Amino acid sequence: MHTNSRLSVDDDVNYDLIIIGAGAAGLSLLLALDEVNYAGRILILETNHKFENDRIWSFWQTSDVPDSINEIVEHRWSSWSLSDQKETVVHRDESIPYCCLSAASLHQQAKKIASKRTNVVFAFGQQVTNLKTSNFQNFIQCQDNTFSSNFVVDTRPPIAIKQMFTASKNPDKSSGETSIDKPKYGLLQCFYGLEIKAESAAFATLQNKVKLMHDLTSTQYGLEFVYILPFSETSALIEFTGFYTELPDKAYLFHRAQEYVKTVIADASYTIIRKEQACLPMYNISYRADSKSIIKGGIAGGAMRASTGYSFLSIQRWARKTALVLNEGKRLIKFESIPRIYRLMDRVFLRVLIDNTSQNPDIFMRFSKSVSAATFARFMSEKATLHDICSVVLAMPKWIFIKAAVQTMIEGKP
Ligand SMILES: Cc1cc2nc3c(=O)[nH]c(=O)nc-3n(C[C@H](O)[C@H](O)[C@H](O)COP(=O)(O)OP(=O)(O)OC[C@H]3O[C@@H](n4cnc5c(N)ncnc54)[C@H](O)[C@@H]3O)c2cc1C
Repeated sequence: MHTNSRLSVDDDVNYDLIIIGAGAAGLSLLLALDEVNYAGRILILETNHKFENDRIWSFWQTSDVPDSINEIVEHRWSSWSLSDQKETVVHRDESIPYCCLSAASLHQQAKKIASKRTNVVFAFGQQVTNLKTSNFQNFIQCQDNTFSSNFVVDTRPPIAIKQMFTASKNPDKSSGETSIDKPKYGLLQCFYGLEIKAESAAFATLQNKVKLMHDLTSTQYGLEFVYILPFSETSALIEFTGFYTELPDKAYLFHRAQEYVKTVIADASYTIIRKEQACLPMYNISYRADSKSIIKGGIAGGAMRASTGYSFLSIQRWARKTALVLNEGKRLIKFESIPRIYRLMDRVFLRVLIDNTSQNPDIFMRFSKSVSAATFARFMSEKATLHDICSVVLAMPKWIFIKAAVQTMIEGKP
């Protein structure tokens, strides 16, 4: 067995807590446990052989962002915009900036905790294949080892999401992983991002302005747009994104991303320094918590906001509450990461998008034009006031939303 920090990985030991997955949810929980000074022995099992700097997380800086995350934020922007073929709407609010951090920064923060604490250990290259409970103990089976613990937080992404990435034909449903298929009124948010380093100041005009949804267009495949995070005058992340009903071809997404890079930076020479891609579920995900000692976290635990694909902030809320409960040491509680009002509004919104494809750009433009920057940011971050919610509802085209709301009510729980 290998040792990644001062506590060595041992399959004879019964751990207090095993976290499956060292991604956003697993590591955010570790940070939150450190914050409450959790003393139990923690083992983090990760299938990858090392940390991969494979994504950048962006979010609005609300009170849900813990100090340990605030201190590793790499960029903050006080302005973001949306545009279609006709116009651009610019939002600006210094008090609730849009910010981002790289996966590498979160990994560094987690490694710092593991090196200062004697109760935390990482085991990489451990693919969890099965999860069983017997005599109040949980047994986590990996390919070559079995580990046991009192509590388990399972953050393996749902099988369907993994399939989208790996195109695996035969997922093992006996492993206890969440299996969820896209419902009729669900979309896939698929994107291909290129982090660019240009040889001249190609992004000078974008400074302090994020292009959140740029060039919104309704195409035969779905709603498409470009997302641009300018990091400096010479570097930016340019991401071609679509909200689709069917899984698109990765080569198409890459090609469109490259086209946009050329449009944005004109004739400047550039290097692609990193690529990122995703296919995220735009539908509510839920699971039944049948055990008092096992819960799911992250996307598998329902942390993804169906209408936006954002989940980093809701993971922070969930991590804080879960760490407090674990610290009490009694039992694990399933927390709803996305409050019910947003889950309901998102179902209606997605039905509207799917049933009215040609109007999609207009719906987003109307929404952004009719609300203030702060309302927009709070609504996107599940921090809306009653007044914000009323403003959002009033901003939407009435009849298509009323119709979709009635149909959603009739349909009941999906
Ligand atoms: C490229 C990209 C960009 C994104 N950008 C944003 C953003 O800007 N803002 C935002 O809010 N959201 C964003 N998201 C969405 C979401 O926040 C992320 O997907 C987030 O990482 C989800 O956290 P998670 O813990 O559920 O899953 P992950 O972070 O994917 O972590 C799951 C971990 O479990 C491991 N694992 C899987 N199977 C096993 C197994 N069998 N055994 C052991 N370990 C296993 C995986 O290797 C992984 O490390 C982005 C997603 C992607 C892919």
